[in-house]
Amino acid sequence: MKNNVPADMAVELLLEQDVTKNTETVQLWELEGRILAEDICAAISVPSFDRSPYDGYALMAADTAGASPENPAVFKITEEIPAGYAPTIPLTPGHAAKILTGAPIPEGCDTTIKYEETEFTDTEVKIFSPLKAGSNVVYAGEDIKQGEVVLTAGTRISAAALGLLAGQGITEAVVYKKPRITVISTGSELAEAGQPLKPAQIYNSNVYTISAYLRAMDTEPVHGGIVPDDPDIIAQRIGAALEDSDMVITTGGASVGDYDWAFRVSQMMGAEILFWKADFKPGGAMCAAVLNGKLILCLSGNPGAAVIGLLRVGMPYIRKLCGHREVMPERVNVILKDSFGKPSPKLRLVRGRLEIEDGKAYFVHNDGQGNGVVSSLMGCDLLAEIPAGTGRAQHGQVLSAIKVPHN
Ligand code: AMP
Ligand code: MG
Repeated sequence: MKNNVPADMAVELLLEQDVTKNTETVQLWELEGRILAEDICAAISVPSFDRSPYDGYALMAADTAGASPENPAVFKITEEIPAGYAPTIPLTPGHAAKILTGAPIPEGCDTTIKYEETEFTDTEVKIFSPLKAGSNVVYAGEDIKQGEVVLTAGTRISAAALGLLAGQGITEAVVYKKPRITVISTGSELAEAGQPLKPAQIYNSNVYTISAYLRAMDTEPVHGGIVPDDPDIIAQRIGAALEDSDMVITTGGASVGDYDWAFRVSQMMGAEILFWKADFKPGGAMCAAVLNGKLILCLSGNPGAAVIGLLRVGMPYIRKLCGHREVMPERVNVILKDSFGKPSPKLRLVRGRLEIEDGKAYFVHNDGQGNGVVSSLMGCDLLAEIPAGTGRAQHGQVLSAIKVPHN
């Protein structure tokens, strides 16, 4: 069992675990935000035919050689081709087709011209300068070529990905099932929202915060209820949750106090402990264990610390569980706006936000960085890292920050 591991090692110990991923077929309309479990190959090119980008005339460029304002090239109009209409008359020299945006270019044409640049009647069109073959044509496959891989397995379906799927006429796709993650709140002091608050009690906020971040990570959180600081009850509840969840998260009791049961309960249940306590603040008081191939992640009870533990250590594993191709969260380098706090003997994660000023990315830390503080998670879109062993972080210092997921 590893103790006091660096944050990156904690991440690696989790990522080393094999995960079981199930798939399901989901309809196009419901696919946004799901993770593809299959590569999607283009069955058709998009567009699938050469088409006109303008309302105008389609013709053969060679027929316009030598055209000038004094000596325009004159064409007879063969037919009108609106969008959705397949041309019927192949063009011969001296002929042009009236064509509208999105309509197929007829056979025998290699260019189009906007109607504003011509003079026309119902039967004739005049062109006043030579045209270049191949100009003003959107060729088949401009967007997607038949046979190419449009989207790869492990891609999160975004607005753009939906457009690519729909452009193929695909009605459904195979995606990974959202992992079910049960969040159990341990602590004898906890009351659930809606209950009257007895002396010495506090409301359970963790399950709501943690679950919302889990939802933002594309998982399906389950409210696992409150359990008192009693090892048998905690073990029983974790065991039951593991039956119908892909992962279990607990908050509270992950440290070394007399009533901190997370680690001892995991051991008692026969789980393999991956590590206990990670070397960062806040949130390093955590424990990770595996039972029957499923991860039990025990986070601090302190709301701020629990979220940081979840995002810094749990998120890559959770992204793996979801089937993401890229499991590491996005990072960005930011310039510290205001000097921050005390020296950091340990790696310190700071809640704050991105501010762009004069085209530069600054990190502004939020007020209230204490373990138990929830309010500094408001508007927190970045967790910046102050490396271990550094002094007070100074204005202008460049920090690496994790992007915080949110819906
Ligand atoms: P613990 O990690 O159990 O030592 O708890 C640390 C602090 O977090 C204590 O002040 C607890 O009362 C508080 N706490 C524990 N669980 C929760 C929870 N679910 N919601 C809000 N605060 C909590
Ligand atoms: Mg406690």
